[in-house]
Amino acid sequence: MTIHHGTLSYLDPERPEPWASFIEQIDRVAPHLGSLAQWVETLKRPKRVLIVDVPIVRDDGSIAHYEGYRVQHNLSRGPGKGGVRFHPGVSLNEVMALAGWMTVKNAALGLPYGGAKGGVRIDPRAFSRAELERITRRYTSEIGIVIGPDKDIPAPDIGTDQQTMAWMMDTYSVNVGHTASGVVTGKPIALGGSLGRHEATGRGVYIAAREAGIRSGIPIAGARVVVQGFGNVGGIAARIFRENGAKIIALQDAESTIANPAGIDIPAALAHAAAHGSLAGFFGAEPLGDDDFWQLECEYFVPAALEGQVTPQRAQAMRTRIIVEGANGPTTPAADDILHERDILVIPDVLANAGGVTVSYFEWVQDFSSFFWSEEEINARLESIMMKAFEAIWQTAQERKVSIRTAAFIIACQRVLAAREQRGLYP
Ligand code: NAD
Repeated sequence: MTIHHGTLSYLDPERPEPWASFIEQIDRVAPHLGSLAQWVETLKRPKRVLIVDVPIVRDDGSIAHYEGYRVQHNLSRGPGKGGVRFHPGVSLNEVMALAGWMTVKNAALGLPYGGAKGGVRIDPRAFSRAELERITRRYTSEIGIVIGPDKDIPAPDIGTDQQTMAWMMDTYSVNVGHTASGVVTGKPIALGGSLGRHEATGRGVYIAAREAGIRSGIPIAGARVVVQGFGNVGGIAARIFRENGAKIIALQDAESTIANPAGIDIPAALAHAAAHGSLAGFFGAEPLGDDDFWQLECEYFVPAALEGQVTPQRAQAMRTRIIVEGANGPTTPAADDILHERDILVIPDVLANAGGVTVSYFEWVQDFSSFFWSEEEINARLESIMMKAFEAIWQTAQERKVSIRTAAFIIACQRVLAAREQRGLYP
């Protein structure tokens, strides 16, 4: 069969990242897909892209417009699933890449979802709570034509939280005329949220690190850990690493970089960040330069902020044994190659940060059945799904002599493309 593929006209060739990184990761896995490779172009173009105008009345009475997105990258294995980001750097290109990584992550973990992602291009810190509520509600209303408990289920990401999900759930429910708890996950417990969801991504990062450590002979207890990003993922991961005997020697957030070779008091740092919105002004550690931060000698480095942070230059300078990707897409493909050459083990985002979407899946199941599980049950099921996925991906990496990332992509892309093939093309 001759294959003709058009180019995606809506992408800006001048600014190819991070979608270009995702495409390169897909290209790397294609030779491992056997006959399914004929379907690989499916993964190189999102199924559906929605760009919406989000107009609101600001507190001073003026009218402002913002740009919002919802991208459904692939729906072959089930409804779309993926977070909503409020950040000034949000772009269509970024949301497409994040949606693609969700497709791979959900399939790698065996969750019955496709991949999706959304966002609004705003700095949430520049708005009052009332304005944020209006932005969230209008955005939800605009994307209401593509989301729903059996269509596409958003969740929190950078700049959004439980409250954002409560407003989304309420807006969608009002528009459809009945309470639809399952339209979003990461909700407050009182609205059908799940125990353990708030901590799940950080807990999953820890589980992935622990399993990597066991197989590489680098125990968490006594290990030195550096964490970039001190929000939902980085903050909770740091806390659980600490609880298991690791020493967090440096932290970085959007405003501050700090270090303490004796180990940072994480509960105190969390309390400071909760009270002041960032680590700036925290007394339990010394300020550190950005270059020094990336060159700290440690056993585990956890990027848990934005994509594209581990550049080739930083990959060359880093002095860690294992990188555990809490963030989505923190390592560029060129940096991945350097880390591989330098024998630094990378546990990729699609595995390491999958704890969040796994417990989101539990939340969605609980909402459907209106029957809620205990936190012990949730954490035990999370452990079991993460361990099973970790083992399968690790085995594939050994057998095929590929990186953990490529192994995760092989397993995931095989599942997605087998579903694509079995469903067939309509008409
Ligand atoms: P968050 O908004 O709770 O925290 C983000 C943190 O990153 C903050 O501490 C912020 O100050 C810091 N940060 C922002 N820009 C930075 C910069 N330029 N340099 C250093 N630090 C910076 O967001 P989150 O939910 O923790 O998400 C972090 C990453 O994890 C994102 O890549 C997100 O997609 C990914 N992720 C989140 C979840 C989840 O359940 N929340 C699940 C999977 C993956």
